[in-house]
Amino acid sequence: MEPTASKAAFERAKADLLAEFRRLRRTASSVRLGKRTSNLFRERRPTAAPRLDVSAFDRVIHIDPEARTAETGGMTPYVRLADACLEHGLMPAVVPELKTITIGGAVTGGGIESSSFRHGFVHETVTELEILTAAGETVVCKEDGPHRDLFFGFPNSYGTLGYALRVKLELVPVRPRVRLEHRRSHDPDTFFGELEQTCRTERADPQGAPFIEGVSFAPDDLVASVGRWKEPGPAQPSDYRFMRIYHRSLRQRETDLLRVRDYLWRWDTDWFWCSRAFGMENPVLRLLAGCGGWLNSATYWKLRHWNERSGLLRRLGLQRPTEWIIQDVEIPVGRAADFLAFLDREVGIRPVWICPAMARRKTTLYPLFMTDPEVLYINFGFWGGVPGHHERGERNRRIEAKVAELGGKKSLYSSSYFSKEEFWRHYNESAYRALKDRYDPNGFFPDLYEKCVLGR
Ligand SMILES: Cc1cc2nc3c(=O)[nH]c(=O)nc-3n(C[C@H](O)[C@H](O)[C@H](O)COP(=O)(O)OP(=O)(O)OC[C@H]3O[C@@H](n4cnc5c(N)ncnc54)[C@H](O)[C@@H]3O)c2cc1C
Repeated sequence: MEPTASKAAFERAKADLLAEFRRLRRTASSVRLGKRTSNLFRERRPTAAPRLDVSAFDRVIHIDPEARTAETGGMTPYVRLADACLEHGLMPAVVPELKTITIGGAVTGGGIESSSFRHGFVHETVTELEILTAAGETVVCKEDGPHRDLFFGFPNSYGTLGYALRVKLELVPVRPRVRLEHRRSHDPDTFFGELEQTCRTERADPQGAPFIEGVSFAPDDLVASVGRWKEPGPAQPSDYRFMRIYHRSLRQRETDLLRVRDYLWRWDTDWFWCSRAFGMENPVLRLLAGCGGWLNSATYWKLRHWNERSGLLRRLGLQRPTEWIIQDVEIPVGRAADFLAFLDREVGIRPVWICPAMARRKTTLYPLFMTDPEVLYINFGFWGGVPGHHERGERNRRIEAKVAELGGKKSLYSSSYFSKEEFWRHYNESAYRALKDRYDPNGFFPDLYEKCVLGR
């Protein structure tokens, strides 16, 4: 498959897709995205809805190094987009950590990364979207113009208002290496206070650190990592793509040096730390998997998905009833220590990823993804299983309630248990209905609540 496509190739693929979409609209009551990869973790009911093959939209279309913009197919995985940009000494302003996350998935799902304290959420770095709507046509959406409402309404719509086929986004310059400083802390209040101060100071300085994130290994064992650009020098960069494990290094080293590409994918080799569940911290298994090219998030997602579908481990008696807690939530920094204490007490999953994010714009414009522009949010990512029954979702429900109590926001890429009334209280029903009425009045795509909570 060609890694890049010209605009003409994109237009041809679009014409073919529109013809296929209109045919399906006549014969089916709904469609689903036909993608080869996914990072979704919500249960989906089996459906007879046909899949729309969007594989022709996984290529970079054009990079403009002067204007520092990229135009790319909506299903382009970030690893492909980032590689194309790096050739020009650039990168997308926000690059989510897993290689197979696609640009469309990140825009519609509120993507973030360690550069989000500076550049905001992925959707804030997007300047243009070309969206396939239920009418069987595409509309070009920008922050002004006739489809301004869809441009701002797309984030957090999860494919229920249409599919992004083409995305134009901002790029930023890179240097060859990233120097990391890992600062350890033993007190969450101090940790979050210092983290906020660092984020605000660095953000105010155009030459300040481009990357800030953290990990909580336990409530009294936290690490903040601040990354700065570095020119090549005699020091040998670290390599966490094979036998060495990145998350361990955070507690073993005070500083580190990575090539820029290795920095972007530092969490992919071990799916943060979730590869442990597959035995990948065992040196022998790791060696074998590494030699086979299987140390990556795409392999783990497929393995987990296959196990869930087949129920193999359960049937062999090797997996007890489990409630999966695969969640990312955003909490205002002032309540972050409270949330961490709650999480450790009531859920107990460790470690926890900590990613500071702050809206770039000074006004709130994204109706389905409302954040306070003055507030620094902490994204907590926690992924694991606890004893229980997933369908009851007892702990997940407690998390949902706590997030709401603390003025936070929960991502919808994973299981949700909200009642309909609660859901629409949190996710702006009136704005969503107005968008749905305009772009999908007959409900060809599922409704957001039905899709994200009921798994339809
Ligand atoms: C362990 C773990 C770590 C994660 N870490 C991060 C992280 O660091 N940063 C981050 O930003 N996110 C992270 N995520 C979340 C991830 O970004 C979301 O799940 C994202 O929506 C996945 O996008 P995808 O491209 O894989 O799309 P899919 O999984 O295929 O789809 C996700 C949803 O988006 C919709 N969608 C996909 N493409 C399009 C499109 N082109 N147009 C319209 N709708 C579309 C689909 O219909 C679906 O509802 C993480 C998830 C997990 C499980």
